[in-house]
Amino acid sequence: MTKLGRELASQGINVISLSVGEPDFNTPEHVKEAAKKALDENFTRYSPVPGYPDLRQAIVEKLKKENNLDYDISQIVVSTGAKQSLSNVILTLINPGDEVIIPTPYWVSYSEMVTLAEGKSVFINTEIESDFKITPAQLEAAITPNTKLFMFSSPCNPTGSVYSQDELAALAKVFEKHPNIFIISDEIYEHINFGTAHASIAQFDAIKDRVIIVNGFSKAFAMTGWRLGYIAASKEIAAANDKLQGQTTSGTCSIAQRAGIMAYEQGLDSVNEMKEAFARRRQLVYDLLQDIPGVKTNLPEGAFYFFPEISSFFGKKDANGNVIKDSADLALYLLNVGHVATVGGDSFGNNNYIRLSYAASDDSLREALRRIKEALGKLVD
Ligand code: PMP
Repeated sequence: MTKLGRELASQGINVISLSVGEPDFNTPEHVKEAAKKALDENFTRYSPVPGYPDLRQAIVEKLKKENNLDYDISQIVVSTGAKQSLSNVILTLINPGDEVIIPTPYWVSYSEMVTLAEGKSVFINTEIESDFKITPAQLEAAITPNTKLFMFSSPCNPTGSVYSQDELAALAKVFEKHPNIFIISDEIYEHINFGTAHASIAQFDAIKDRVIIVNGFSKAFAMTGWRLGYIAASKEIAAANDKLQGQTTSGTCSIAQRAGIMAYEQGLDSVNEMKEAFARRRQLVYDLLQDIPGVKTNLPEGAFYFFPEISSFFGKKDANGNVIKDSADLALYLLNVGHVATVGGDSFGNNNYIRLSYAASDDSLREALRRIKEALGKLVD
C-alpha cells in the first residue's frame, strides 16, 4: 500500500499515508551525535558478532532497570533489527513440521518467517470484542505434541493491544504445564504504551529460560533505518543465534551500535515526548473513527495503530459498480477514492479489519479521517 500510495503521489495526487509502521519523528540529536563521534573514532571495523560488549552491558542494565529482569551479557545478541532477531530465533528453533502458535491479528512477517523455516503456523483467532487478546483456554486448545513455539507482540502490531500483568500470569501458567514450548515475546513497542506499565512474560521464573525477549531501538528512539535490535534469552539460545548470525550478517553496523549505547545512556525523555504526541493523536483518531457509520473500533492501549472492524462495507459498490469484497479491496478503494493509504487486515491474518497508523501529524490525521468518512459514505448497497 505504501508503494501504491507513492505511485499516486508521484502523479501529483495528495496522498496521506497511514500505512507505515514507523514513528514520524527524527532520531534524537544526542544519538546522531554519538554516531558522528563513532565515525571520527573509527568504529568502522567488524564488531563482535553478538554486538559490542558495552552495548550488550547497556542492554543488560536496561532490562534490570526498566523491566526488573536479570540477564548476563552472554544472554544478549544484538542484530540488524528486531526483525532479524525474530528470524534468527525462528531459524534456530524451528525444524520442518514444528508448530508455531500465533495469535491473530499478528505482525505480517511472523507467519512468513515460520514458512521460511518450514514450520507450520497455527493461528488463534481474536476479535475486537476481547481487545484482540487470547485467553488461557484458547492457548491450551491450540497446543499439540508438535508445538515448539508461541510468538506474540505486546503492545501489538497491528492492534495496539497490551497484555496486563495478570493476563500474562495466566498464560504463563499454561506454559508451565508444557515445558517443551518456547515463547517469543516481541516487546518492540514497549515504550509506546498509554495504559498500565509494560509487563514482560519473561518475569515468570518458572518459564523465563524458555522466553526469548525481542526488542530494539526502532520504535522507542525513532531509529528504524539504523537497523538495531536484540534478543535476551537463555545462554543456549543466545549462543545459537550468535552462531547463525556469524554465518549470515556478522552482526549489525558498528556505528549504529555506538549510537545505541547513547540512546540508553540518555534515558527516556525523547520517548516520552513522542509518547505524548501519540497519546493526543490516539484520542483524536478514536473520536473521529467513532463518528464514521459502519466502523467499529476499540481504544488501543499501545503502539501507534488502530485496527477498526470494517466488514459492514463488504458487498457494497463503488461509483463504477465494483463490489468491495474484502479488506484489501476496501484499502485499495480508500487509496484510489479517498487518497488515504491504509493496510487491509488480511495482511495481518484477519480480513474484517483495516490497520491505520497514527504516526502522522494531527492535521494529516484530521484530513485523512475526513476523507475516509467521505469515501465510505459514497459506497452503496
Ligand atoms: N516486531 C514488530 C511487531 C514490528 O512492528 C516491527 C517493525 N514494524 C518489528 C518487529 C521490526 O522492528 P525492527 O525495525 O527493529 O526490525
